[in-house]
Amino acid sequence: MSDKKIPYKIYLEESEMPKQWYNVRADMKNKPAPLLNPATLKPMTAKELSTVFCDELVQQELDDKTPYFDIPVEIQDFYKMYRPSPLVRAYCLEKALDTPAKIYYKFEGNNTSGSHKLNSAIAQAYYAKKQGLKGVTTETGAGQWGTALSMACSYFGLDCKVYMVKCSYEQKPFRREVMRTYGANVTPSPSETTNVGRQILAKHPGTTGSLGCAISEAVETATSLEGYRYVLGSVLTQVLLHQSIIGLETKAALDKYNITPDIIIGCAGGGSNLGGLISPFMGEKLRGEKNYHFIAVEPASCPSLTRGRYAYDFCDTGMICPLAKMYTLGSGFIPSSNHAGGLRYHGMSSVVSQLYDDKLMEAVCVEQTSVFKAATQFARVEGILPAPESSHAIKVAIDEALKCKESGKDKTIVFGLTGTGYFDLVAYQKFNDGLMDDYIPTEDDLAVGFAGLPKVEL
Ligand SMILES: *Cc1c(COP(=O)(O)O)cnc(C)c1O
Repeated sequence: MSDKKIPYKIYLEESEMPKQWYNVRADMKNKPAPLLNPATLKPMTAKELSTVFCDELVQQELDDKTPYFDIPVEIQDFYKMYRPSPLVRAYCLEKALDTPAKIYYKFEGNNTSGSHKLNSAIAQAYYAKKQGLKGVTTETGAGQWGTALSMACSYFGLDCKVYMVKCSYEQKPFRREVMRTYGANVTPSPSETTNVGRQILAKHPGTTGSLGCAISEAVETATSLEGYRYVLGSVLTQVLLHQSIIGLETKAALDKYNITPDIIIGCAGGGSNLGGLISPFMGEKLRGEKNYHFIAVEPASCPSLTRGRYAYDFCDTGMICPLAKMYTLGSGFIPSSNHAGGLRYHGMSSVVSQLYDDKLMEAVCVEQTSVFKAATQFARVEGILPAPESSHAIKVAIDEALKCKESGKDKTIVFGLTGTGYFDLVAYQKFNDGLMDDYIPTEDDLAVGFAGLPKVEL
């Protein structure tokens, strides 16, 4: 290793790209708790799930034993258009921080949708097409998922209906227009087009919406239209499975140069990029082969891991989806309009939740202004304008690198740079004008969300 200079970017050859996804649940001793039917409180069966989701995705969702799933050739071909994504050695950031730490980031922003979400969108669109469906429905928060899904659906010729959280629909017209350009039908949520949307509007007039609420509308639409299914961009274990491509590529690239990371950091909204990035490394840890320090980073304004409860909860505000056991702030929790739209979800992937509960990983929460400070510092030396979500990971990577400077340790840090921030310039503007605030929910704010947790006695 010492005689081989590590390049700025480590790429993989097409032939070295992963041909299978890795299912970390196969190696978990404590499996994530099953999804429950909200009416019977019994585990959801494949038959029940298949009214909402595509059949093959249901199989993936329920399978906690099979370690590897073949990536269909059609999906591999699509991946080749924008993958492998580069693993970058942040030489310039290291120099600016004057740290002995070695910093790497896996950059997922190299596609038009601007984030890692395309990795799962293309898989979900593929299975919907294979099943002969007409189209899919979904929700989107900041718009990255909706954009990714629009691209994937147009590639396979599927109709795509997107419920977009109202504050993002209004604040982020550019993403909305990218979606429409790729042929998607975009509706601000809550809307008058669904029962659940009308109910939420009656109860909370003037609400700027939430992901949980948009999910309810998308599910209702999928189940009431012939030939449609619902797809989700995060939280579900099938999404985490598809996102394992991030970690598998990262590991393959590091292995080429015999690099073993000490610390692996990812931002956590629903947990899919973090789960995908850490999966193969976590597998090694679970099998007792290696040890790594994993850190999930969430916003202080929506702290599901660091301040939430580990309990069964509704995945949506409308309470029509299955119950999932996860770290949650309660499905009724509506975070302040934080600029990292992709990190505003009330709950966390059941896989990440279980790994965290088993103390196999750490979680920290960070305040918005410190995140934008880190984003700016990163952009100025590394060139990439990072997404606010991704910048949560940057902030903690910088903190860890500075700790190394103090202690003189040359740890190897890997973090996930999930996307670019070109459509988040309103947030950057607020930061540059000194108008950004750090709203942290009080105990009373959180109590409101916890009070709405369903009582589940098993
Ligand atoms: C959606 C999104 C996230 C958060 O979602 P996860 O499911 O937690 O990965 C992070 N970064 C970007 C750029 C996103 O678009």
